[in-house]
Amino acid sequence: MGDADETLRDLQEHARYLSELTSIGAPRVAAATDGSDESSASGESLEAIRAFIGDCQRCELSKGRKNIVFGQGNPKAALMFVGEAPGADEDEQGLAFIGRAGQLLTKIIEAIGLTRDDVFIANVIKCRPPQNRNPEPAEITACQPFLERQIEAIRPRVLVGLGKFGGQWLLKTAEPISKIRGRFGDYKGIKVMPTYHPAFLLRNPAAKKEVWEDMKAVRAMLSE
Ligand code: URA
Repeated sequence: MGDADETLRDLQEHARYLSELTSIGAPRVAAATDGSDESSASGESLEAIRAFIGDCQRCELSKGRKNIVFGQGNPKAALMFVGEAPGADEDEQGLAFIGRAGQLLTKIIEAIGLTRDDVFIANVIKCRPPQNRNPEPAEITACQPFLERQIEAIRPRVLVGLGKFGGQWLLKTAEPISKIRGRFGDYKGIKVMPTYHPAFLLRNPAAKKEVWEDMKAVRAMLSE
């Protein structure tokens, strides 16, 4: 294919991505996995990790939460997303990314030819912070073993860190997301792409362009 054809194809694809991201429809929500798959990479099932979390009281967030949001999707996913924390809708239903930001995340996943059933989606912390405030360091530390074990069990080929919290947690850095996004880093031998959080995109639609670039790099990495 010539350079001009390729540029045209990329522009068409970008236009389709942008138009899909403006029409936010109902989210396709993957059924919460029962985690009973036996062949996880670490040998530990997601079900065992969920049981380990139990009716967690390890931090103060347990007092205000309705549901622990474990995360859901394909236990053998090649691509895993890591967000920040559940919001009101997620707390209500016990599922990750099902509110407005989640609907946008669905479109982003579909823009690279996948569905929510193909990927796994989890958060740095599993309980909703009051008034959706930022997670505190002690809460992140209390929740850390859960996400570590989820990633070890799924062992995706690529991790996408959504926003400051997802990106910084995976890359163990304090660098702002605007600095780290767009370049692959490493989490225990797994490729990590930090990008903007869909909630940020709802407030700053112009940044969808950068997320598209990041997701194209993820798609290319997955097909290597
Ligand atoms: N934002 C997040 O970071 N995670 C969710 O599950 C929902 C919104």
